Amino acid sequence: MNKTYLNYAPLTLMVLGMGVGIAGYIIDFYIPYSVAKLLWFLATILFAALGLRSGEIVRNLYYNLYNDVLTGLRNRRFFYLNLSYEMKNNVNSKKPITLLMIDIDNFKSINDTYGHIVGDKVLKDMAYIFKDNTRASDTVVRWGGEEFSIILSNTDTIMAAKIAERIRKSIESYRFSYGCTSFKATVSIGTVTINKAMHPENLIDFADKALYKAKEKKNLVIRYEELIYEVET
Ligand code: GH3
Ligand code: MG
Ligand code: MG
Repeated sequence: MNKTYLNYAPLTLMVLGMGVGIAGYIIDFYIPYSVAKLLWFLATILFAALGLRSGEIVRNLYYNLYNDVLTGLRNRRFFYLNLSYEMKNNVNSKKPITLLMIDIDNFKSINDTYGHIVGDKVLKDMAYIFKDNTRASDTVVRWGGEEFSIILSNTDTIMAAKIAERIRKSIESYRFSYGCTSFKATVSIGTVTINKAMHPENLIDFADKALYKAKEKKNLVIRYEELIYEVET
């Protein structure tokens, strides 16, 4: 569907609706009842088809608005909406909430060695592994490039460490195989868990700090809580 068509979509649908309505009104006066009945029947089918197609377009637009095209994961727009909602919900019901920030290690060298098509396949497989290791209620997001984040609702810091470690190990032990190419890859993960209200940006910042620390060694999980502990002792 091209952009010009989309620009005129509201006007086209309005004119079409009005046209059929007015035509029906006029036709009712001038043509025999049996023919009018047939025309109304055809108009009903036309409207049903149009309604169905419009609904499909709205559904596809909604999907593309909140999902990443390559991996099918949620995108950053959805992430911001959902993080605020989940934080408020969890904190109000006195449940902890965890944010994971994940970065693929040395991804540029995977692209450089095997090409961008293989790089894309790695991103898709990683997305699958993240989904496979989380609950349906968790939000797995492609943050951008080779970075992902996961919102784990009702998850405390101990559980968060277990889940993050499970993800890290699943990827470490996975063999990425495409045709005759086969290799391994790793990720670094930063986590933060909170049980009190705060600005979502602070939560992202804390998870980022933990990830930054994990990236020093790579293939590692670091909890933000450990960093604070290090500073305090
Ligand atoms: P580090 O271990 O420090 O994270 O290094 P890195 O190589 O993973 O990170 P760097 O930021 O140097 O490179 C990220 C690369 O990810 C560069 C960019 O070309 C690649 N990339 C970003 N988005 C995509 C994508 O959609 N597909 C592919 N194939 N590559 C992508
Ligand atoms: Mg990165
Ligand atoms: Mg990276």
